[in-house]
Amino acid sequence: MSKDQLWQAVLGELELQLSKANFVTWFSRSFPMDYQEAAGELSIGLPSVFFRDWVERKYNHLILQIIQKLTQNQVKKIIYQVSLTPVQTPLRSSAPRTEQFTKTNNHALNPRYTFESFIVGKNNELAHAACLKVVENPGIQYNPLFIYGGVGLGKTHLLQAVGHSILGHHPDKKVSFITAEKFTSDYVEAIRTGDRTKLKTTYGGTNVLLVDDVQSLAGKERTQDEFFHIFNDLYQNNNQILMSSDRLPEAIPALQERLVSRFRSGMITDITQPDLETRIAILETKCREKNFQLSSDVIHYIATMVQTNIRELEGALTRVFAHYQVYSILPDLPKIKEILAQTVRAPRQGVVTTRQIIETVANFYELTSEDLMSKCREQKLAFPRQIAMYLMRTEIHTSFPTIGQELGGRDHTTAIHAVEKITRTLEQNNRLKQEIEVLKQRLSTTA
Ligand code: ADP
Ligand code: MG
Repeated sequence: MSKDQLWQAVLGELELQLSKANFVTWFSRSFPMDYQEAAGELSIGLPSVFFRDWVERKYNHLILQIIQKLTQNQVKKIIYQVSLTPVQTPLRSSAPRTEQFTKTNNHALNPRYTFESFIVGKNNELAHAACLKVVENPGIQYNPLFIYGGVGLGKTHLLQAVGHSILGHHPDKKVSFITAEKFTSDYVEAIRTGDRTKLKTTYGGTNVLLVDDVQSLAGKERTQDEFFHIFNDLYQNNNQILMSSDRLPEAIPALQERLVSRFRSGMITDITQPDLETRIAILETKCREKNFQLSSDVIHYIATMVQTNIRELEGALTRVFAHYQVYSILPDLPKIKEILAQTVRAPRQGVVTTRQIIETVANFYELTSEDLMSKCREQKLAFPRQIAMYLMRTEIHTSFPTIGQELGGRDHTTAIHAVEKITRTLEQNNRLKQEIEVLKQRLSTTA
């Protein structure tokens, strides 16, 4: 659980236990500053020394009790500090009611991930529209709904927004949000202990199943069997299934054919990188949420510097905002450049190396770098190898002889042939196009 989720859950409980006035007075400007999981310490920020002393003296006992229950005693200590709330939003404004935390299984939904806070641009309008349809008519239209796209582009946000919204409209529905990875570990646990009750209570009677990052089912044969059965059960009873993935179903390595066809049977839509306009809109909205005013040339500059990923865009803004909080002066453009220079790299300027391309491609196709550099000519290796060659050429303008050299000492004609072949294939193969998009995005974030 992140510190934000943890503190939201504590607030939910405090709200139930305290009078409204007390709750608002003492906790409306509290926020989680830091969570040291290993040490079991959570730091809470409060707006003044007076607040800090009061909350610590009067409420520490209660807070500790709540949090220990929530975390099975993992949190051992709360540290109270004086600090101003970073986000000046009304207390738990768009946050779900506490009951919703218990309604979704395993994972609490992140209260920030709502439709209200989701900016719609050309890059995500289809996915967004499909999600709204799902909320209107869960289980009927667009079932299953499969959303795919690169990292940090809002897939998890959308999935959870659907969860919040369905619970808001239909409080009687059971919504389950789970990552495929958590699903796998729950399943493995059930096998190990021979106890399937947890799986049953999690998925039995679920009306809306939100599965995040299904690509991580890749190669997990038995987990896929289990998932297939749960999927069918829910689907046949007209329950909604919504999935996210970083790639199309057929591009997930070693995903059973029957799952691929199930995943394809409803609606498939993608989220791509936001254009400049959308990035600016996102920054402006996030600034408004923080009560933070930046000039339009500053916003424009940040939006130009961070292109590929909304998570990084937020990160850049957070650093600028942190600077403002420390120095209490709105940073001007030269200052912003300085702040961002330490952390944000200018978008793709040949910083990607051939080595990174090999690693990224190998990783994506679940191979090793050695596989790609080996002499083996099996199709399973040959095609990813050609993609690596293509990316070396198009992304960092590596010479053909060097490309051949880097990929296992091959002849430069092999490299030329590979680049031509991939270029041709791209013209008519959308799946490959999308894979290349994801690879490029990964390169630009690892570089
Ligand atoms: P993904 O699951 O695709 O990797 P996330 O959903 O985790 O991406 O999004 C990364 C961050 O960017 C989150 O903090 C999310 O709130 C924010 N974000 C993504 N898309 C949007 C959007 N369209 N509007 C506002 N915030 C967004
Ligand atoms: Mg995600």
